[in-house]
Amino acid sequence: MNRLLGLHCDSCSLTYAADGAVQSYCPDCGPEWGTLECKYDFETIRKQFRDQLIDETEPVSILRYKAFLPFDNLRSFPRLRIGCTPIYSLPRLARSLNLTACFIKDDGLNPTGSYKDRASSVVVARAIELKHSTVACASTGNAAASLAGCCAASGLRCIVFVPSTAPKAKLIQIGAFGAHLISVTGSYDQAFDLSMEACQEYGWFNRSAGLNPYLVEGKKTGAFEVCETFHFDPPECIFVSVGDGSIITGLCKGFQEFHGIGLIERVPRIYGVQAQGAAPLAEAFQQFLRNGSLIINPIEAHTFADSICVGKPREGIRAIKSVAATNGTIFSVSDDSIRHALRYAASSRGIFCEPAGATALAGMIHAAESGIIKSNERALAFMTGNGLKDITGVQESVDVLLHQVSPDIEAFKKITLGELNSGSDDRINRGAR
Ligand SMILES: *Cc1c(COP(=O)(O)O)cnc(C)c1O
Ligand SMILES: [Zn+2]
Repeated sequence: MNRLLGLHCDSCSLTYAADGAVQSYCPDCGPEWGTLECKYDFETIRKQFRDQLIDETEPVSILRYKAFLPFDNLRSFPRLRIGCTPIYSLPRLARSLNLTACFIKDDGLNPTGSYKDRASSVVVARAIELKHSTVACASTGNAAASLAGCCAASGLRCIVFVPSTAPKAKLIQIGAFGAHLISVTGSYDQAFDLSMEACQEYGWFNRSAGLNPYLVEGKKTGAFEVCETFHFDPPECIFVSVGDGSIITGLCKGFQEFHGIGLIERVPRIYGVQAQGAAPLAEAFQQFLRNGSLIINPIEAHTFADSICVGKPREGIRAIKSVAATNGTIFSVSDDSIRHALRYAASSRGIFCEPAGATALAGMIHAAESGIIKSNERALAFMTGNGLKDITGVQESVDVLLHQVSPDIEAFKKITLGELNSGSDDRINRGAR
């Protein structure tokens, strides 16, 4: 793979050979500090692809950006529609927040229903190139479901470690794809450590956050799509929810790479949004701004947004450095404001996302209201997961307009018109339910 210069450790500045033995983290720096980064030779990319840096003959997957992806054999890529998700405008929300424009990019529409498909597909393609037949990961649910789906499409064995409390839909989805589901009686953080030991023991390719340099390569494609959709003039402010910090690192890298090769003139500010009960990176980021020290204190995480219920973020160091380089920030919002954002996106715009997805929108609303972003700016929130993924989390966020009736027209007529009209209007009055 001649575009890929190697796997770089930012902490000690060593670069490992792209096809070498080290394929997870820098052994000198350990898993927390030694997350490896794919470095490309942009001169080779230019020569190899010339004026075809984006493959426009590839309309329905992130293979449009193959020039920037870490594998050559396109046939090893799962034949699924990965990425190319829609971006919707929300003009009423923009007016009420006093912003120039608001957008949602709905990544819940990926094949397995979450942003994770961008990463899993790239990891699977690379695993095949590196001649692995088994891929494993630890996950709060979505990464596992996504890896299971991509492995099913490409014929690899898949083993996933998931906390036994993960939402049922995600567990069933994993089962349907035929993966081996290891249900861990413990937290995500404990499932993570177990998966790491098991992969070391059995030599499986590990897709887990912070341990696989190819994850972020898939995750950066969301940024590429935003650039393309906005004719290479992306919105000034990008919001995304943060658990381990891998998606946000990917988004930063994507914009930086397009900037580096001259496709965009400016890198947007990237804003990471956490839930208040699971905000170790928001805290570490503020500390980093205050005195430049990079320390992430693990916590016991609590939030109903299960996909970002992470107490020990595995890609945190890289996430903080990446976000700081874009002049963005990481902050937290309450579970109530996440419920509100979820309800708002669904009832006023028809966009159905799981709590972790709505967190980005809650962050956008908070940032606009508290002056973190300015009124003459455009803002885009990534909705990272589909609402059907976690129906219990959705259920506690919405009011179901339920009218119980016996199957009889006279009984039905008793439901007055007034009752049917008292539906959801466009409410942005937070908290008030
Ligand atoms: C995984 C996930 C996130 C957070 O991504 P990280 O890379 O862990 O920060 C956000 N939303 C959803 C729906 C997810 O599945
Ligand atoms: Zn190192």
